[in-house]
Amino acid sequence: MPLLIRSLNQRGVPLASGKEQVRLLESPNGFPRFEETIAGAGLHPLTGDHITVFQINVGKLCNQTCRHCHVDAGPDREESMSRETAELCMAALARTGIPTVDITGGAPELNPGFRWLVEESRRLGRRVIDRCNLSVLLIPSQADLAAFLARHEVEIIASLPSFSAAQTDAQRGDGVFGKSIEALRLLNALGYGREGSGLTLSLITNPVGAFLPPSQKSQEAHFKSRLAREHGVVFNHLYTITNMPISRFLEFLIESGNYEAYMHRLVAAFNPEAAAGVMCRYTLSVGWDGSLYDCDFNQMLDLPLDHGAPGHIRDFDPDRLHRRRIVTGNHCYGCAAGSGSSCGGTIA
Ligand code: SF4
Ligand code: SF4
Repeated sequence: MPLLIRSLNQRGVPLASGKEQVRLLESPNGFPRFEETIAGAGLHPLTGDHITVFQINVGKLCNQTCRHCHVDAGPDREESMSRETAELCMAALARTGIPTVDITGGAPELNPGFRWLVEESRRLGRRVIDRCNLSVLLIPSQADLAAFLARHEVEIIASLPSFSAAQTDAQRGDGVFGKSIEALRLLNALGYGREGSGLTLSLITNPVGAFLPPSQKSQEAHFKSRLAREHGVVFNHLYTITNMPISRFLEFLIESGNYEAYMHRLVAAFNPEAAAGVMCRYTLSVGWDGSLYDCDFNQMLDLPLDHGAPGHIRDFDPDRLHRRRIVTGNHCYGCAAGSGSSCGGTIA
């Protein structure tokens, strides 16, 4: 029997609201607040350390409905960046030397302005990352997408939780593993993941349950050998990330009775080095409506920039953004646990 996953938004449940998630995460939970913990590590208040990544979340529409999605994305979502907001993003980027544009969603490629954002960012000489869910490359209307990405030397970061079909499908939906392998072969045929091609293909794996990820190095070797041997697929890097206790993963934690134990696990794994290197310190995150955030996670929790920083891309001001004070909360334990999340944190 196929497993039907529906977004929180579509089901109209209280957790669909970022504010409700924050209320839950910030209620007394028997562990120190994140701000107290980083104060103990000499990191409070957390501040920006120069923006090197301009992350654009173009909306929540996605062709998949993964169980752990922190965006609560899915085919039912209609939030989508307009051309006007996309133009404001590129005008802001042009005023800076920020080297990397990181485009995410949903499935960002389904936004009508996606290809224009890529072309414009490349015209400005920036490195472009596409957070690609792989299966989007197989949609008939996107038949030329892989070639477009290759032509513009867009770096692809794609999620593949496991080299086991059953585990991947359990998290991302029935049949997603098979489609992911087909899409990876398509990308390999264009040169992606192959030495010397200049086309970088990285994978992200996140745990399929309420536990922390194993070491990135050992996982990368494992993924490389299994995917090459069993499917003839190659890629450049594997990033391991911790599931953030927000959105659909938060619902999973609560419903499975794992919420408190998971939060305690994150708190116990707090690593000051990981906390000092969290991605919000070098990222600016722009939402589909042009609102500004410290990261994609804060965006999904409706926690916009604060402490005097501009709130919308139309008011972009690099001088007030580079060293801004970051909005933190208990969800931030997810970024500071273990060795941290080294790929910018978001899952495609
Ligand atoms: S995790 Fe990625 S592919 Fe899955 S529903 Fe969310 S945005 Fe879509
Ligand atoms: S959740 Fe966002 S604000 Fe919090 S530590 Fe992670 S990147 Fe920074």
